[in-house]
Amino acid sequence: MNQVLNTFNGTEFTTGSAVLEFSYLVAAVLFVWGLKLLSHPETARRGNFLAGAGMILAMITTLLLHEDSEGHRIGLANVIIIVLSIGVGTVIGIIMAKKVKMTAMPEMVSFFNATGGLASALVAVLEFTNPLNESFLVTLLGLSIGSIAFSGSMIAYWKLNGTIGNFPSGFLKYVNIFLLVAIIFLTSYILLQPSPHNFKGMMYLLFAISLVYGILFVMPIGGADMPVVISLLNSLTGIAAAMAGFIYHNLAMILGGIFVGAAGTILTLLMCKAMNRSLWNVIVGGFGSSGTASDDLEGTVKEVTIMDAAILLAYSHNVVIVPGYGLAVAQAQHSIHELEKKLEERGVRVRYGIHPVAGRMPGHMNVLLAEADVPYEKLVEMDEINKDIENTDVVIVVGANDVVNPAANENPGSPIYGMPIINAALAKKVIVMKRGTGKGYAGIENPLFYKDNTSMLYGNAKDTIQKLVGEINSL
Ligand code: NDP
Repeated sequence: MNQVLNTFNGTEFTTGSAVLEFSYLVAAVLFVWGLKLLSHPETARRGNFLAGAGMILAMITTLLLHEDSEGHRIGLANVIIIVLSIGVGTVIGIIMAKKVKMTAMPEMVSFFNATGGLASALVAVLEFTNPLNESFLVTLLGLSIGSIAFSGSMIAYWKLNGTIGNFPSGFLKYVNIFLLVAIIFLTSYILLQPSPHNFKGMMYLLFAISLVYGILFVMPIGGADMPVVISLLNSLTGIAAAMAGFIYHNLAMILGGIFVGAAGTILTLLMCKAMNRSLWNVIVGGFGSSGTASDDLEGTVKEVTIMDAAILLAYSHNVVIVPGYGLAVAQAQHSIHELEKKLEERGVRVRYGIHPVAGRMPGHMNVLLAEADVPYEKLVEMDEINKDIENTDVVIVVGANDVVNPAANENPGSPIYGMPIINAALAKKVIVMKRGTGKGYAGIENPLFYKDNTSMLYGNAKDTIQKLVGEINSL
């Protein structure tokens, strides 16, 4: 029974709307709880499940109990269309999530991000001309932020899967500043009109400029800097969704959007810190793509045999493993855990040095190693491991490259100059496992491979590690 409970400012509050608002409160609690659990690998799965449950609850109660300003619920025909659309989206999402390889996760995240941004932008386009909508500021913000998140995330998606390469930043920086000013000017101009509804042409112009800005701001970003941009785009999608929530006065959408926006912003700032970049550079675009790497490297590259590497490791006191993208490609997480256990059985202290942007997504190495049941206490963050690296007998670099590249400290011309790295080169000995002479994501040479204390152990990381374990067993 949909009884009127109260009347405020002419609006009637019914049992249905009270239950709906209460369900949003429960959903919000589930979102917060889910986010909290997501912050640790051991509880992350449960956190994902709880936040998802909150969203499903909010969707079901909205479909059943939402009332328009005249007290009408959503009609059956619309409910059917919405449920069918959700069904199609869910099936596509499940298939993509099941099929995706771990190393292609960032691409998928970028793609999903793009769809979120587009949905928010389209809500704003539709609601701009709705005579009942008076919230022009949030509508226009949702439109531009959603469009930037959409086109920017699609470019990030194509960049990550290698479809498009880098663009020189050069004059694009100035074009980007001009486009940002144009977006602010157009938004203000429309808002200052007595009847903004009538400025549909201007609204479409704002839509188009925002899409172009999204493209041009991600295009020149290259080298090692993509993680910052991906997390910034993620937070923009959250903010755009919150704006769409304000248009509809929908608490669940506002809260969900704000949580994504806030979490994304915190991650962006942490990533900026990890990469030693300023957020302003990210927004203007083209950061990290300037500078040229000097490829005249001194020294020679030496190889080590499996047997010599096994002896060196087995008779060390302490070893640090630095995993990188190649570990994920080789799916060598179980093998590296086996090597770690073998060495520990022989009394060697083994820890993992985790760089915040190793791999291709934030937390990539933590997720991989958790999958192999590596105890969480063994994963040591970059700053902590660096304090102890000079006392380390052997650093084993497994499929990592950019995150241990000393050019970041030594070569002011390098595109990664200033990015904090794990100072593997300072250890007594370094063994680098990789397949050959392939470069890292930043596409630059790595002087670490030429250092006197470094030896290369070529081959697929998983095969090499398994051979090493076999060799250590026979010692
Ligand atoms: P890199 O991409 O710098 O290097 C990976 C290395 O792994 C390559 O040099 C490659 O050399 C080697 N490799 C590849 N496959 C294998 C294999 N099967 N077995 C052994 N080795 C292999 O990785 P890092 O983790 O050091 O750095 C991550 C980079 O990615 C950074 O530049 C970061 O900014 C960027 N990035 C990070 C994101 C994030 O959120 N974490 C997102 C997007 C980009 P070879 O071909 O010779 O084997």
